[in-house]
Amino acid sequence: STFEGLGLNHLLINHLRSKMGIENPTAIQIASLPYLLKPYDKKDTLRDIFIQSQTGSGKTLAFLLPIIQDLLPLSSHSYIDRSVGTLAIIIAPTRELAKQISDVLELLLKLRLRESEEVSEDSSQPRLTRWLVSGLLTGGATRTHEKARLRKGLPILVATPGRLLDHLQNSTAFNVGKCRWLVLDEADRLMELGFEETIRDILKGLEGRKKLAMKAAEEGQGMEVGGWEWRQRRTVLCSATIREDVQKLAGTVLQQPVIIKG
Ligand code: AMP
Repeated sequence: STFEGLGLNHLLINHLRSKMGIENPTAIQIASLPYLLKPYDKKDTLRDIFIQSQTGSGKTLAFLLPIIQDLLPLSSHSYIDRSVGTLAIIIAPTRELAKQISDVLELLLKLRLRESEEVSEDSSQPRLTRWLVSGLLTGGATRTHEKARLRKGLPILVATPGRLLDHLQNSTAFNVGKCRWLVLDEADRLMELGFEETIRDILKGLEGRKKLAMKAAEEGQGMEVGGWEWRQRRTVLCSATIREDVQKLAGTVLQQPVIIKG
């Protein structure tokens, strides 16, 4: 299998090759990308995904690439329409892991949006980073600083559970009504670290925000912002093991998941 055969956008394929030295998909990417890259069709329901794989298998790109490909159309706007709010949230058990995911994300977002034969480092070609701003919410920065960043709008967030819940409950500027991706990375560690309750509360918080956004839409404020219609959320859960506690968590967060083993 090739990334092309799995349905990955050619801009992303070229970027992986030239900037990250990645040529061929790993086993877990081959198994999961066809599901995750499938474009949304209003007629079908999006399937949630349980990815069972170890660290080192390439699972990070397996969930980051589909998120970026899904959000690429945002870059066709000539302005930054951050009023759309946060569209993807990735939850990691620790600050260190969140930072690692965020670093890979930043590399991917350096993607150039136009291909040219001569690409020099200082070229002024638009980069995805201008539209798809990513943010790290781990409690490493002050709450006020994080709130200010949320107010400006962060389409993709990488967060630890506690700080994410804190903002969901306390930051009115946190616009997540249209969030369409939720990833729980290393779910087994999330459970070991006692985050089950926090994750449940995060899900409740997201549902609450979605309802508010839909109510605003009914009152004529429009669900469509810059062409971004509301869409059902898709949840991806990654875990190295399928222990009983992880299965229990999966039972609450995932709906009829496809299970992929790598
Ligand atoms: P992960 O399992 O996501 O922690 O990834 C482990 C390592 O594999 C990272 O250093 C990635 O950059 C690398 N990696 C991910 N996908 C590929 C691939 N398709 N080919 C080669 N290396 C990869």
